[in-house]
Amino acid sequence: MKRNFLLLVCIVSVFITRAQERALQRPGCSAPVSNTLFQAVDTTKSRGVADNYLTWEPGQTIRVKFMPGGGPVLRNKVIALAKEWEKYASIKFQFLPDNAPNTNIRVKLGAELGHNSAVGILSNAFAADEHTLHLDTLYLADFAYYKSLFVRDGIRPPYYESLYRTYMARYPNHWDEKELYATVVHEFGHALGLKHEQSFTRAIKWNKADSVYDYYERTQGWDRDMVDHNVFNMVDQFYTNGTTYDPRSIMHYPIEAWQTTNGFTVGYNHSLSDGDKKLIAALYPRNAAELKRVVPKVQVDNYKGMKVQYDASRNGLVITPQMDLKTNARLGEVWVVGRLVYDDGYYVRTSGSYYNWGGTVATYYKLNLVPNTTYNVNQAGKQNFEMFLPAKYIPDLGGDPFFVELSVVLDDPINKQLNRLLYFKSSDVLRMPKR
Ligand SMILES: [Zn+2]
Repeated sequence: MKRNFLLLVCIVSVFITRAQERALQRPGCSAPVSNTLFQAVDTTKSRGVADNYLTWEPGQTIRVKFMPGGGPVLRNKVIALAKEWEKYASIKFQFLPDNAPNTNIRVKLGAELGHNSAVGILSNAFAADEHTLHLDTLYLADFAYYKSLFVRDGIRPPYYESLYRTYMARYPNHWDEKELYATVVHEFGHALGLKHEQSFTRAIKWNKADSVYDYYERTQGWDRDMVDHNVFNMVDQFYTNGTTYDPRSIMHYPIEAWQTTNGFTVGYNHSLSDGDKKLIAALYPRNAAELKRVVPKVQVDNYKGMKVQYDASRNGLVITPQMDLKTNARLGEVWVVGRLVYDDGYYVRTSGSYYNWGGTVATYYKLNLVPNTTYNVNQAGKQNFEMFLPAKYIPDLGGDPFFVELSVVLDDPINKQLNRLLYFKSSDVLRMPKR
């Protein structure tokens, strides 16, 4: 993992074409940072890419409210557009009064530069008085209308942001419906766990030249690191959910020919694509056909430690982790692996045919976990799972200290994704008895 913080991103519109006319620069996403260990990246304008570990539970009612601000007309438009997703997914946005407690998503209709949203359940990591989704009302305005007022009033260009804001306050509720749709639906797509479609593995042959970095610095104020993360980043194939790349997705950024090495372009998408609808239905299935597209997901929860003991009568190490394994609607094929590691961090190597996990001395068990089930592993005093490593497969450690590294990895044969690391913990330091 390159970073241990989260980037929340969003560019929202066609920067160049209208910017000149308005003498305004279209905003990108600011990048609020959270302390969470998850890493998530987001792009605008396409479908196909989601983080299966950040999605809500299918069928869940997500509690949403507005932060103070924003008139009822705009609020009602936002509510209606958020609910576009409900047509295709088993998920519900419940919009609550501003003073409602325990909300998952908090929408700010504000004036901070850019639109952005936390990705999926990361919204829950924000404090109750923080917004999780920001829409910059200026960039939802009907610019043509306001420009006509400037002309009427004899104001000469350039027309700066403050002028638009002044006129928006004086003549409220003239919104750009297309822009509203593209922006609000896109941001709520992030809130449901979708990432930017251009992150689709190998979809875009980016021209990683200075001109592109300069462009994003000029238009969005992003440094090179931000551009790498928000624009060039490719998402693990695992997150593509078996879907194909969809340049029509509402989660795709617009791309101009000079930004790619092969002249590839993507326009500004203003409606949900078929791919968007399919993906959201696969993440939040409503029926058996959609269920087939669900990607297996296993969560490790309530980890309470792992006991590692030398059992003299069996002459080997007995390893008993204590945790819960929770599956979604698909069979979860996981491996629980215990590897031996020297105290200095190097794995204990082996070239043997047995008890060998990638060249490391290890014991491992394959578990086929039934859908929609929580397995309590060695919880509440129950001993129902142990891993055994015979001493004869452990090289003579010469009394050196070592520890056991527990990992849980998921296989997803449907999507040909194997060995995805789900969980990782170390035991206390131990010594083998003298031989
Ligand atoms: Zn975005």
